[in-house]
Parts: sequence; C-alpha cells; structure tokens
Amino acid sequence: MSTLEQLQFVNRFARLPEDFYARVDPDPLSDPHLLHCNAAVADLLGLDSCEVQRPQFAQYFGGLLKFRQAEPLAMLYAGHQFGHWVPQLGDGRAILLGEVQNQSGEVWDLQLKGAGQTPFSRDGDGRAVLRSSIREYLCSEAMHGLGIPTTRALCLVGGQDEVYREQIETAAMLLRVSPSHVRFGSFEVFYYRNQFRQLRQLADFVIQHHYAHLADSKTPYHDLLREVIERSARLLAQWQLAGFSHGVMNTDNMSILGLTLDYGPFGFLDNYEAGFICNHSDHHGRYAFDRQASVGLWNLSCLAQAFLPLLDEDNGEAAAEQAGALLDLYEPQWLDTYATGMRAKLGLQQKHEEDQQLSQSLLNILQLNQVDYTQFFRRLCDLDLNNPTRDTELRQLFNDPVDFDAWARSYRARLERENSQQHKRQKNMQPVNPKFILRNYLAQAAIEKAQRGDVSDIDALMQVLATPFDEHPEYEAFSQPPAQGSPRLVVSCSS
Ligand code: AMP
Ligand code: MG
Repeated sequence: MSTLEQLQFVNRFARLPEDFYARVDPDPLSDPHLLHCNAAVADLLGLDSCEVQRPQFAQYFGGLLKFRQAEPLAMLYAGHQFGHWVPQLGDGRAILLGEVQNQSGEVWDLQLKGAGQTPFSRDGDGRAVLRSSIREYLCSEAMHGLGIPTTRALCLVGGQDEVYREQIETAAMLLRVSPSHVRFGSFEVFYYRNQFRQLRQLADFVIQHHYAHLADSKTPYHDLLREVIERSARLLAQWQLAGFSHGVMNTDNMSILGLTLDYGPFGFLDNYEAGFICNHSDHHGRYAFDRQASVGLWNLSCLAQAFLPLLDEDNGEAAAEQAGALLDLYEPQWLDTYATGMRAKLGLQQKHEEDQQLSQSLLNILQLNQVDYTQFFRRLCDLDLNNPTRDTELRQLFNDPVDFDAWARSYRARLERENSQQHKRQKNMQPVNPKFILRNYLAQAAIEKAQRGDVSDIDALMQVLATPFDEHPEYEAFSQPPAQGSPRLVVSCSS
C-alpha cells in the first residue's frame, strides 16, 4: 500500500498530442477539508487507509498540493446536448490529474471535479457545488453496490468558497476514479473537425488501454464499436431494471466503456412511473425514464457516425452499412438483458413466452396504484407461494389490492409451472432486489445535514448503499419510500 506521495502516475492521456486536451492546474479551494473518503476506492488505488488521516489528503484533493508526477489536463470533447450539436465542450470544471497504477498493475484515471476554470469553461465558473458533489459521491457508490457499471469516487473535499447558482452555495471537489473518462463526444469532436488522424489515434488509445483483447483483430474499429454498442445496451437495460433515470443523456455524458458517467439531476423511481422525468430542466421529457433505451440508441448512432471514417475510409456507403448492421445489435441486446434481469427479479428460473406479458402487466398495476417500485420487489421476495392469505404486506402497497390479487394469481401459476421452491426462490431474489436505493429525499437530507457540518448521513448511506441487498436492520429507515404526500424534490441541471 502506498502513501499519497508514492502513488504511481503513468499519465497515458498526456502522451497523446496536444490537440486532445489543454494543460491546466487545479485552482484550489480555500481551506480545503476532507468531508468523506471511500475506503473501498482508496483500496482500488492501492492507497494506504492511514493516508486519509493526514492533512495533506484534503490538500491534494482540494487542489492545493500538486502531485509531483501528475500532469493535469482538461480533456477535449464535444457532444449532442438535448439533441443539438455543440461543437466544443471539454472538461470545463474537471481536471484529469493523471492516471495512477496500483500494485496489481491496474490503471485508474484520477479526475478532480470542481477544480476550477479551464480553457473549456465557456461561461462557467469551473466549480461544483457541495450539493451536487454529494449526490455524485453517493450515487456512484449506490450504482456500484447495485452491480451497475459506473465511475467511482475516492473522496469529497469541502471549501469555504461561495459559488452562485440559483442561490449562493458552497463549493466542493470530488475525486472521480474511472478506468477512463473518454466519452462518445471525445470521438465526435474529431469527426466533425475532419481530424481523422486524431480520431484514429483516440480509437487506438482506447483499444490499447481498455479493449486490449481487440488489439489483434483484423477489424479493430468495427469490433470496438460493436462492443460499445453491446455494453451500452446492457448498461441501459440495467438502469431500467434498477429504476434509475440518468437525466442528462447527452453524448458527452456517455462513456466509451459503457459506464454510468456524469451524475447530474439523476433520480431513482419511488412510485413506479414509466414517464418519470427526473431533470427539472428537461421540459420536453427527452430523457424521461421510458425513453432512455431509445435515447441510448440515438446516442450510439451519433458515435457510429463519428466512427464512419474508421470503418471504411474510402467507401462511405460501405461504412454506413457496417455501422447500421452494428446498431441493429442494440435492441436485441437491450431486450435480452432486460428480460433476463426482470426474470431474476421475479424469481423465475425458466424462460417462457408469457414472461414479458407478466412483467408488463405488473408494471401497469404498479403505476396505476402508485406503488413503490423498489419496495414492491423487495417484498415480493417473501411472497408465500402456497398461501395467498399471507399477502397482506404486498396488498397494502396497492390503492386497489384487487389489482394485485389478479396479478398474483398469474404469478403463482407461473411459479408453479416451473415447480418453484419457496426457499430457493427467496434466496435467488434477494440478491437482485435491493432493499436500499439512493432515493432523492435521502440524498437531500444528507446534503442538508452536510451543509450544517454533519456528515453522519453521508457516512451511513455509504455503508448501506455499498451492500444494498443486505438487511442492515439498524438502517431500516433508509429503506422507506418518501413520506406520503411529501412534495417531489426538484432537481435541475444546475450543479
Ligand atoms: P454537464 O451538464 O455537467 O455534463 O456539463 C456540460 C458541459 O458544461 C461540460 O463541458 C462541463 O464541463 C461544463 N460545465 C458544467 N458546469 C460547469 C461550470 N460550473 N463551470 C465550467 N464548466 C461547466
Ligand atoms: Mg458532462
């Protein structure tokens, strides 16, 4: 295990040509202090857990101290935002300190978010507010706990600086950790600038470091695009199964590794609502919960467009044909992941034609009866196969329990068809139906406490969300849906 000073920086991205980034140092927070550290991520980096105790920890990750071997930079990218092409974005408030290699040879990007202005800041102040930093810190751990691919975060550092959003807030920094921060938009920027040499260099970089198994392929770019399509399809289906809504699925927020990236106005479903819009700034519901799957494909088609010169430089038509065939893989992959995941959530072992109908009719009655999505599935684990008179806890969730009774009859018949065993079913269902998700009201309560200097909720949530399938009886309250009649919290792009 290493000290902060012993972290092994390898800085691979900084070896790419200068037109891939802008070199820039973090602008420190005033009086940076550590608010929370994620021991599991420190472990990933091979960082000794005692390092957290040193005052230098907050100074390094608050931008005040510079790692000797680091070569900080802001990455260039562009993107389609809410369907509109924006020719240049880039890290406007995040700075890649460099890549760090741990003792087992794994390499991780260390990216400091909220690190001050960069040449890509446009009108922004380069800062991130404490509120949004806490949300990202908690949610990336929650997603990881749910088994959903995501960036991680090492720590949260607070400062005294005031920043202006709708109101005055305090600034913070988050140290984001990921194998890579390359986005769909990182490719798009070179495609639309006709910089095909750089486009190829970026693809080669991604293959060499992140898709090494494709390095010897005769069609590496074709295979890379195929894998990104398949990974993204699986990711998007996993979001849907977890009831997760990203909120800002712009192509600059889509990871080339198929990770959940850039937590802004995300939201988990409380009551099931197919058309749920978590982002208050999303007036037309472009990124509504039930549109995510199709937006994923739309985003991938933007990426595929940027890949055309790589697929066939001389024959545009042939390239487009290849891209089209690859994009056709998306829907079956999404459907397969979703159907498999939904079967697991329902405790079904076999595959039957009518399963889709069974899950769809369930979602319909959950919506109709305003039933909490996560709580329903968790309680369903305990359904007594042979005794409908014990359904009280499930029936209570429904405005009209008769809807549940009708569905439960077909569910029991379906379970009987595969000779489902009570005990075994329960054992299989609990590890896929979380008891804890990062509900908005929980995040909000943790934020309000932290703004008053009390990080106890952050600490407790980090423990619970890391293992959300466990019971954690001492944290029962965190498993509860928002109180009935409480107003929906408004979350916008402002962060
Ligand atoms: P996001 O919506 O957070 O994914 O950000 C979209 C773009 O705006 C990215 O290029 C960000 O770096 C940039 N951006 C967002 N907030 C700020 C800020 N406060 N200062 C500078 N750039 C920002
Ligand atoms: Mg972004």
